[in-house]
Amino acid sequence: MTEKNEIDRWRRSLEEAEVELEAKNRQLEDLRSFFCENLNRLVEAQDHEHEHRLSDELKNLELSFQNKDDIAGLKSSVVNLVDKASKIKRLPLSDDQSEEKTNAEKHGAELLVLIEALEGATSETQTRGLLEIKKEVSNIGSAGDLSRVIEQVVTLWTETTQATQATQSTHTPETKDPSQFCALLISEILYQLLEKISLPKDLSDRLGALKKQLQQGVTMNKWAGMLTEVSDMASYVQLKINHERIDIEVFLKQVTGRLKELDEYIQGSQNHFERTHMNSQALGDAVKQEMQNLFSSANKEVDINALKQQIQSGLAAIEKHIDGYKKSEVDHHAHADEDVRKLLGRLSELEQESKRLKARVQKERMQAQIDTLTGIANRLGYDQHLAQEYARWKRFDNPLSLVVWDIDHFKRINDDYGHAAGDKALKTIATLLASKVRETDYLARYGGEEFVLIMPGAAGDAAKIVADKLRETVERSGFHFKGAPVTITISAGVAEFNGDDIPVSVFERADKALYEAKQNGRNQVVIAPVKKE
Ligand code: GH3
Ligand code: MG
Ligand code: MG
Repeated sequence: MTEKNEIDRWRRSLEEAEVELEAKNRQLEDLRSFFCENLNRLVEAQDHEHEHRLSDELKNLELSFQNKDDIAGLKSSVVNLVDKASKIKRLPLSDDQSEEKTNAEKHGAELLVLIEALEGATSETQTRGLLEIKKEVSNIGSAGDLSRVIEQVVTLWTETTQATQATQSTHTPETKDPSQFCALLISEILYQLLEKISLPKDLSDRLGALKKQLQQGVTMNKWAGMLTEVSDMASYVQLKINHERIDIEVFLKQVTGRLKELDEYIQGSQNHFERTHMNSQALGDAVKQEMQNLFSSANKEVDINALKQQIQSGLAAIEKHIDGYKKSEVDHHAHADEDVRKLLGRLSELEQESKRLKARVQKERMQAQIDTLTGIANRLGYDQHLAQEYARWKRFDNPLSLVVWDIDHFKRINDDYGHAAGDKALKTIATLLASKVRETDYLARYGGEEFVLIMPGAAGDAAKIVADKLRETVERSGFHFKGAPVTITISAGVAEFNGDDIPVSVFERADKALYEAKQNGRNQVVIAPVKKE
């Protein structure tokens, strides 16, 4: 019966694994469609007439990335941006008289923004035209006025663009052109989005190529190709998960088959037991019968020789019954042994398969917690590990501290030496930090250029000392970009768990301390004040 329990246990854990895979599948599918749908809408909305209005929203979204939004927060930022973009695209010049004035005013305000964007890129004659338009904008009262002003703006816009193109070699190209600015911003957003999404390792080449393309700048006509690539990658992930599901389905079928066999065997041994029982009963009955015959003949028979004869034949009959019984028992045992042997073979195959599957699930779970760029743990790994340490802290009350790092002025590295150099610096810093922390500490890339260190057994002041040493190590590590030495520094905030703290509250305190370290001039560690109970 213990075999049965064992198999039930397998069955349960396999069912759990299947449920888990399905959830993962749904989550990825959800993310994929969300991603593609919103990016498509975004690109559609990225219409040349409206770029200047979108740029504010894009800027906000960029800020939300820098504010370390989680996937859910990120999603809602993207949705906001896309909604705004779609609204802009749909905004009609209303014919409804009651709405005319408000719409005209709205458009007027937006025109002013556009005009301001045009300033600085205009020549003297254009500036005069601009001043006139500005005057008219303030007097807009109807849709008629508005369309007239729009026409003027469009003319001016076209002249300005032509003028800018003609003088591009003498002027700095910069980001005066809103379409260029928006394209840059979208590239940056897509880049960061790709950073946040954790994709399987075998996609890392394609992911790298995509990121490289993004860094080189994407013109509007290349967007469709980029999106197809992103969607292809998502389909690949989908396919991979489907394969896994099929694998598990096949395995579950095997398990079901084996369970049926086991059931039959148990049923068979039950029959065998019953047959054995019947056989021995029959033997008992037969022996009893023969004995009775012997007794009655002993009572009746007077001739000693005849009695001897009777007893001998009675004993021979008993012997025959016993032989028959033995033979049938041996047959039954041989069959039962064969059944057991076969069954054990099948069970061991099943066990191997189950072990293989378990190891694969484990490996994939581990891989999902590794950051592909730096090779250290990622945000998922951090969340899971901190949950464990937090439970331990609650139970045993040993000190537990958290350090949150952020690289100082990292944007400058990207801007001055390119994203690839930035990526390399991230890798180097991660490796450096990982090599210096204790085995019981847990280092992870929290996102972007931020790292976290979970330090069980360390109180806040001890954690600060460690954090300071690591800060000095990075400062002294000596980076070289384009052949020139460059100093990179990091800042950190430290917070210790206490009172009714939960992981999020401690992270917030450490993050606040990090902000203070930045405010105080960077390249330093600030410890958060202990929370009052
Ligand atoms: P400070 O933190 O000192 O205030 O300045 P900062 O320049 O580091 O500030 P911020 O946090 O605003 O900028 C972080 C930059 O890090 C923005 C982004 O371009 C860059 N970054 C984030 N993730 C990656 C990445 O994976 N690779 C590269 N190359 N750059 C990244
Ligand atoms: Mg940052
Ligand atoms: Mg930074």
